[in-house]
Amino acid sequence: MDRSLDCDRDDMKNIRSRLHDNMEKNALQTDIQFLPGVGPKRAALLRQELQVGTIGDLIKIYPFRYIDKSSIIPVNAATPDMAYIQIKAKVEEISLFGAKGSIPEEDIKFNTVKRMSVKISDGSGYMELVFFKGIKWMYSKLKVGEEYIFFGKPSVFNGRLNMVHPDVDHVKTSGQDKNRPGFMNATMTGIYPSTERLKNGGITGKVMNKLMENALNMALPDIEESMPEYLLLEKGLVPIHFAVRNIHFPKDMISLEKAKYRLKFEELFYLQLSLLKQKYVRSRNENGIRMPKVGDAFNICYDSLPFDLTRAQKRVITEIRDDMKSGHQMNRLLQGDVGSGKTMVAVLTALIATGNGYQACIMAPTEVLAQQHYKNISKYLKGTGVKTALLTGSSKTAERREIHAGLEDGTVGIIVGTHALFEDNVVFKNLGLAIIDEQHRFGVEQRAKLWRKSSCGLAPHVLVMTATPIPRTLAMTLYGDLDVSVIDELPPGRKPIQTIAATESRRPALFKFLKDQIALGRQVFIVYPLIFESEKMDYKNLETGYEQIVKAFPFPPYRTAIVHGKQSNEEKKFNMDAFAAGRADILVATSVIEVGVDVPNASVMVIESAERFGLSQLHQLRGRVGRGSEKSYCILMTGSRLSKDSRHRINLMCATENGFELAEEDMKMRGPGDLEGTQQSGLPITLNIASLAKDGLILNDARQCAQRVLDDDPKLSQAKNRIIAEEVGKEKYRVRDYSQIS
Ligand code: ADP
Ligand code: MG
Repeated sequence: MDRSLDCDRDDMKNIRSRLHDNMEKNALQTDIQFLPGVGPKRAALLRQELQVGTIGDLIKIYPFRYIDKSSIIPVNAATPDMAYIQIKAKVEEISLFGAKGSIPEEDIKFNTVKRMSVKISDGSGYMELVFFKGIKWMYSKLKVGEEYIFFGKPSVFNGRLNMVHPDVDHVKTSGQDKNRPGFMNATMTGIYPSTERLKNGGITGKVMNKLMENALNMALPDIEESMPEYLLLEKGLVPIHFAVRNIHFPKDMISLEKAKYRLKFEELFYLQLSLLKQKYVRSRNENGIRMPKVGDAFNICYDSLPFDLTRAQKRVITEIRDDMKSGHQMNRLLQGDVGSGKTMVAVLTALIATGNGYQACIMAPTEVLAQQHYKNISKYLKGTGVKTALLTGSSKTAERREIHAGLEDGTVGIIVGTHALFEDNVVFKNLGLAIIDEQHRFGVEQRAKLWRKSSCGLAPHVLVMTATPIPRTLAMTLYGDLDVSVIDELPPGRKPIQTIAATESRRPALFKFLKDQIALGRQVFIVYPLIFESEKMDYKNLETGYEQIVKAFPFPPYRTAIVHGKQSNEEKKFNMDAFAAGRADILVATSVIEVGVDVPNASVMVIESAERFGLSQLHQLRGRVGRGSEKSYCILMTGSRLSKDSRHRINLMCATENGFELAEEDMKMRGPGDLEGTQQSGLPITLNIASLAKDGLILNDARQCAQRVLDDDPKLSQAKNRIIAEEVGKEKYRVRDYSQIS
């Protein structure tokens, strides 16, 4: 299998001459199939599985972990809390097990083997290796009495240390003597992302290493330094050649760290620089709709509020107002924990727009939320004379036609809606403001579509609202070049929510407690996890849960409603309305109620299988209660055996109500996880090595550095910044400017 790598001389000559014909001026741009060891078949695989088209692309694939060939630990020093370890030991005994237990050697039929156990020893002690898959191959590879290097994660089973599915290298072929490692003095071997198909196609870990070596040999000289020298010095960054070499073939731990730091810094630096540059360019352009006054409707609404705005709300409104009268386009992110009063701010902002003769739209991610917003907003607008309407996917045709007409002739001042607002036949007379709630559910493309709906020739002001509390720099990165306002204060008089964790044995007590609360006139949410909307199991849980509730809380006197993603919008609305209006005491729901739903009389939130939710989701759900004047409760029902992480999440929820604290913990625990999955997709560029979740410190540093560079040389025209200007001009850093009408 490895033969294809050790191309003999003739092969090599052929490749070189072919390469010569096919070589781009720059080896980085050369088609991957011409890299020695690849060829058309493997090239197709690499393209398919790793999106690698050129040698340069291949070099951009970095190892996600490394085997330190220089450190081998004795068996008796291994402990289950170690990450990956490497052991050099002799195979003492190999046993196979089927469904009925141990299989004698004479009877081996591999299709009946369920498990292989390998006892190894290195003189300091014994360890068991366990294989459940690939047994036939591994069985033929391992020989009793011979020595191997085993690499894996130690764990404990039945009180004894073992390793499940370790990587195995024969001592004779590993090490310095043959090929791996050794390239460029590496003492560590990189492990690259792989897939079944790559492995089946012969691109194993070792092959990948060899390909990388070939790629670096050919193309490293063509990689140009992409950071200016003065920044390398100032920030203590290693040169690009050192970084690329050591990220693939680390000389040692320290060189690897230096390489990683350099590459992460660079990536985040250019990300920040491109965002800041765009912001700078835009702020120079007088391209915003000037909205000089607040208008009568604003004042009427403000004066008739049943409460005082919090200081934070006032500050944020001032910031927004300053933006809107400045003549520049507003692009602002409004961050505020659940219940901090963002809707109020949205209404007043919308009234500034109408007060200046423009229309405003308020977009919600779900139908339920749009309805809720519409209801609240209509309440606030009473007496202002501003007409508002609701447009969603389930608006009836006649109604829809009327709304379309009202938007086109300008009689509708504030439109609330869902994605339906993006439809092409929605035409505004003069859209001056778009407010987007919980924007991570809207694609940037969709935002761009909205901009085109303004007919006055200028891009509408934009206010994005989110309840996801994330650190400031991160927010500025995730939300492109938005300015950030934070409501960091809850309206007064909120009683803390008591959060309690409980297991199944406490259910009778829980039901009694719920009955007491309902007797006091309160309402109760019971939420079931529905992580994958299509998962049958989840629906089963929800259905059995619902049956259990209806049995325990029979009608009369108890009234229970249910809301979930499989219902039609009318059904959902009907049930939600019933609960909101107090016609139901209990709302059984999936996490569709996660965001925004506001029922002040609901004072208890029960979350079933709470261990299955992430921290931020739990926090969002909890935010559905504690909105009224009554003391509220959040009850986290969990299984009795929790993983360490789940236990930690549940404990944190019971310990704090502070969304920022939770978010930070969440990020630490999850690392890239969700954050990068869902929100990073909104980033203008894809990050190859840096992680927004894990590299917060580098991110801050990179942003400050980028800011200083731009302050000092806004046009990047100075000689010392030549490299920066070239680099940031590259396609990959082109930030699309969604504030422009296209
Ligand atoms: P968010 O959207 O930020 O989660 P909402 O705007 O839904 O929060 O507000 C939560 C509740 O607090 C609503 O019932 C709202 O009427 C109320 N509220 C908003 N601002 C204030 C305030 N300044 N004082 C008292 N109550 C407020
Ligand atoms: Mg809200």
